[in-house]
Amino acid sequence: MTNAIVVVGAGVSGLTTALLLSKSNANVVTIIAKHMPGDYDIEYASPWAGANFLPMSTRENSRWERRTWPEIKRITEEVPEAGIHFQTARIFRRDKDMEGPSCPSDPMFDHDPWFQPVLPDYKELDAASLPAGHDSGCEFTSVCINTAMYLQWLVGQCIKNGVVLKRAVISHIREAKNYSHTGKPADIIVNATGLGSLKLGGVEDQAMAPSRGQIILVRNELHPMITTSGTEEGLPEILYTMQRPAGGGTILGGTYDIGNWESVPDPNIALRIMRRVVELCPEIAGGKGIDGLSVIRHGAGLRPYRKTGVRVERGKLDDGTHIVHNYGHAGWGYQGSYGCAEGVVELVNAIREENGESLVTEPK
Ligand code: FAD
Repeated sequence: MTNAIVVVGAGVSGLTTALLLSKSNANVVTIIAKHMPGDYDIEYASPWAGANFLPMSTRENSRWERRTWPEIKRITEEVPEAGIHFQTARIFRRDKDMEGPSCPSDPMFDHDPWFQPVLPDYKELDAASLPAGHDSGCEFTSVCINTAMYLQWLVGQCIKNGVVLKRAVISHIREAKNYSHTGKPADIIVNATGLGSLKLGGVEDQAMAPSRGQIILVRNELHPMITTSGTEEGLPEILYTMQRPAGGGTILGGTYDIGNWESVPDPNIALRIMRRVVELCPEIAGGKGIDGLSVIRHGAGLRPYRKTGVRVERGKLDDGTHIVHNYGHAGWGYQGSYGCAEGVVELVNAIREENGESLVTEPK
């Protein structure tokens, strides 16, 4: 017995979910999406991400990120063509940010974070290693993902496993049922539409909102990657850098602006981002200030923020078709991708078992 599964969405969530589902011969997977890797669009978050691995979840909700790290680490070590490299991460904290209105990514700045034993080489920094104006900090080994390479690599891995990708725009989730390349109606639909879940008929999740992130991609190099707990301008302006592997450039960030839908990069925000980075790390521009930066492009993406947290959950259409949701990852879609996709596989397997199917099938 095989299950025809249609995954809606070809961002990091849809592609990773399709990849894990396609590892079982029992699943025949089709991906449909309005946007695919290679596209740059304000409705498509994945290409705009840095992306790095700086845990953002609380200890209680850390399952998704905890389960993702080992696979991201394995790919980094064993699959260079996937476009991920290790990079030392430094986090600098200011006590005043810890006391202020809570930043959405607060747990990353904890003094005793849950990820201390998970990410390699974790250590607290001594006072001499801190930049002026910062009270404490830590360092550990993280990764930076060249998202342009990695998304294409995921597509290739899916195709190798027999997944079929098609362009389609749906207005109601039930329409996905008709897109399985098997020709029969889908048994299970996976909803990985990110921010699209706000307006997609049959989902219309009002807890969803954009968290706009503005970035600048430059040719300059900078090691290690840096993140600070706050900026003098206050939220939504934040400060981070990371260098993508394989000539992918260095990302200078950024903003975390909940409720802002603007697709066009704001030149004033861009100036402030660049100024903050060269002040903190003058070496990135050879001491020449902003003039020493060589800009590849300015960009803005919308993180799929969900007020109530990520939704990895089962449901049913009116006609009884099973649906499994995987959306609302805000700023941690890559670093939670394998954990959440694994969560979807568990839910799909539960449906299969309820249908009387044996889960003992040959993997591909
Ligand atoms: P998306 O990538 O938005 O994909 C949604 C898919 O659904 C698309 O294919 C779209 O076309 C499709 N779709 C939607 N509606 C429909 C419809 N009606 N019909 C058909 N198709 C539809 N994450 C990290 O882990 N680390 C980072 O360092 C990081 N940095 C970030 C920096 C910025 C500036 C931004 C913007 C994001 C960052 N993120 C980071 C977050 C990460 O990018 C997102 O969490 C992730 O990309 C969400 O992926 P997704 O697949 O759920 O959604």
